[in-house]
Amino acid sequence: MKSIMLIIKLVVLLLLPAVVFAAEGEVRDVRLWTAPDHSRVVFDLNQKVEYKVFRLHNPERIVIDIEHAKITSDLKNLNLPDPVVQSMRHGKPTPATLRIVMDVKEKVQPRSFLLKPMQGKPYRLVVDLTRPDQAKKEAVTAGESKSKKGLVVAIDAGHGGEDPGAVGPRKLYEKEVTLAVAKELAKIIDATPGMKAVLIRKGDYFVPLKKRVILARRSKADLMISIHADAVRQRNVEGASVYTLSERGATQDKAARALAAKENAADEIGGVEIDEVDDPMVNMILGDMFRRDSLNSSQILAESIIGKLKDAGPIKYSTPKRARFVVLGAMEIPSVLVELDYISNPAREKKLKSRDHQRRLASALFGASMSFFEKMGRIKQSSSQARSESVADQKQFAANSPTL
Ligand SMILES: [Zn+2]
Repeated sequence: MKSIMLIIKLVVLLLLPAVVFAAEGEVRDVRLWTAPDHSRVVFDLNQKVEYKVFRLHNPERIVIDIEHAKITSDLKNLNLPDPVVQSMRHGKPTPATLRIVMDVKEKVQPRSFLLKPMQGKPYRLVVDLTRPDQAKKEAVTAGESKSKKGLVVAIDAGHGGEDPGAVGPRKLYEKEVTLAVAKELAKIIDATPGMKAVLIRKGDYFVPLKKRVILARRSKADLMISIHADAVRQRNVEGASVYTLSERGATQDKAARALAAKENAADEIGGVEIDEVDDPMVNMILGDMFRRDSLNSSQILAESIIGKLKDAGPIKYSTPKRARFVVLGAMEIPSVLVELDYISNPAREKKLKSRDHQRRLASALFGASMSFFEKMGRIKQSSSQARSESVADQKQFAANSPTL
């Protein structure tokens, strides 16, 4: 009897691993992010899966077959149609296969990759559907400003899409604040004669960090501001801080180094396939003189931003700090990263959410850009004062006009 029990125990033990391995894959959530030149579909998974992606024509479809999987997410929650994906459905062509079919509007180029779990995100399958014509158009539009005269300001709204950035106690996302302030700033710049804004990110989608650098370069930007809002555990911490790229070698400042590590992790959260971004310019080696010159002007820009942000809210550090931020990699462009405030502070979160305060922050960034261009001798002092006054007039007008 004892030996029979032992055999049963052994059999059970031997079977257990098999049971574990046969555990079914599960698609638990599906999200869709629409970028100007592609749409990204992200599937949350409970584990690593075997899958394949292929195209079917007449009508155009993208098919994703996932082995040993089921779906527990409701595809009806997706905001469809989007510019690429018209509709999405699923079925079981064989008992072991989960098939997801997307009806697409045009011949798109699919690309897919798996992301490992990180920062509270599970295994994810990312499927990017690129619109070839739109991608070409984007490249041309970005290059247009090459021939244009005037000052170009590249505005980089941090995070986006899969990457929410920091999240406030009332669930305000950093990616929303950064985009709102970026758009306000672009509005002021584009209303200023002789100036042009280029938004690196225009909506709620992720742009890889190195691609942000490439886009700033393509636009021949005269300066670049990357906009962020930080978070820490202590909820009473508040105030803005401004960063420039540190030269080679480790940064001594621990807090700045930790911040750079946090911001640089955006690619892993937002979803970047290795080798996704490759541009010879990114690895361009600059002469020492050139680099020093550019770091100096970034410093001047950073100081000027702190000076102006003082009028818009509290300041955390009264001098710029340095660290190795990937997004500040365009060393020939004076580039700074601005942490507008701490979204982790409930009072500051409320402020960051308010349209009025977003406008005030954008005005401060605009004023700082103007005074930077003045200091660099790119614009005349008198004309820029006239411009700031005209912006002030516009604001006055907007304030007096209830319909605006
Ligand atoms: Zn950030």
